[in-house]
Amino acid sequence: MSESDDLAQRKMQFLFALRSKGVTDARVLAAMERIDRGAFVRGIFAERAYEDMPLPIACGQTISQPSVVGLMTQALAAGPRDTVLEIGTGSGYQAAVLSVLARRVYTVDRHRRLAREAQAVFEALDLANIVSLASDGSRGLPDQAPFDRILVTAAAEDPPGPLLSQLKIGGIMVLPVGQSDTVQSLIRVTRTETGLDYEELRPVRFVPLIEGMAGD
Ligand code: SAH
Repeated sequence: MSESDDLAQRKMQFLFALRSKGVTDARVLAAMERIDRGAFVRGIFAERAYEDMPLPIACGQTISQPSVVGLMTQALAAGPRDTVLEIGTGSGYQAAVLSVLARRVYTVDRHRRLAREAQAVFEALDLANIVSLASDGSRGLPDQAPFDRILVTAAAEDPPGPLLSQLKIGGIMVLPVGQSDTVQSLIRVTRTETGLDYEELRPVRFVPLIEGMAGD
């Protein structure tokens, strides 16, 4: 089998694995077919990019498992007119998937190096509607608020207040909550005219949301 056949086959299995784990939204599947996860993983792990596994990235962080990216993206239900804030850029993969579905994506990370490297990948892939910033996402992004959608890809004990207040009415936030390293739950918060609705979606495991900037 040639190398390109092999890659095509691995990508097909990748999409099959997503479907079998509950990622059924056609728009989400198309976005994940279009964004090459291999562009967001470096070195020895790059060849495992199409496996449904989290993988290590720089700064001791991880790129999430693709099926979890798919399920979170599906739960967020972002549309072509939406402005999305992602907290926890990491490799930039999740932001890239969101950029196919939304009008504009702001993504922030407390590691300057991750924000910078992700920005370089976005430019190389011509994903011009993503703004990558080094900043403490536990405060949200007040200058650009409010947002139609907020996705948090690091776990907080509770939904951070600044993020809840930066959500538009009708807006949706998806985030893992719980003590780090124990069981966390993925939850969906919807801001209504009168308050906030909470829905628990599934158990997940994410690195912790840490307040303040990192040293690198
Ligand atoms: N969405 C990423 C994976 C996220 S890993 C991807 O697609 O690859 C979680 C990320 O959250 C890490 O990069 C970590 O640095 C970041 N993070 C943790 N606390 C943060 C905070 N307060 N503000 C911004 N980013 C934070």
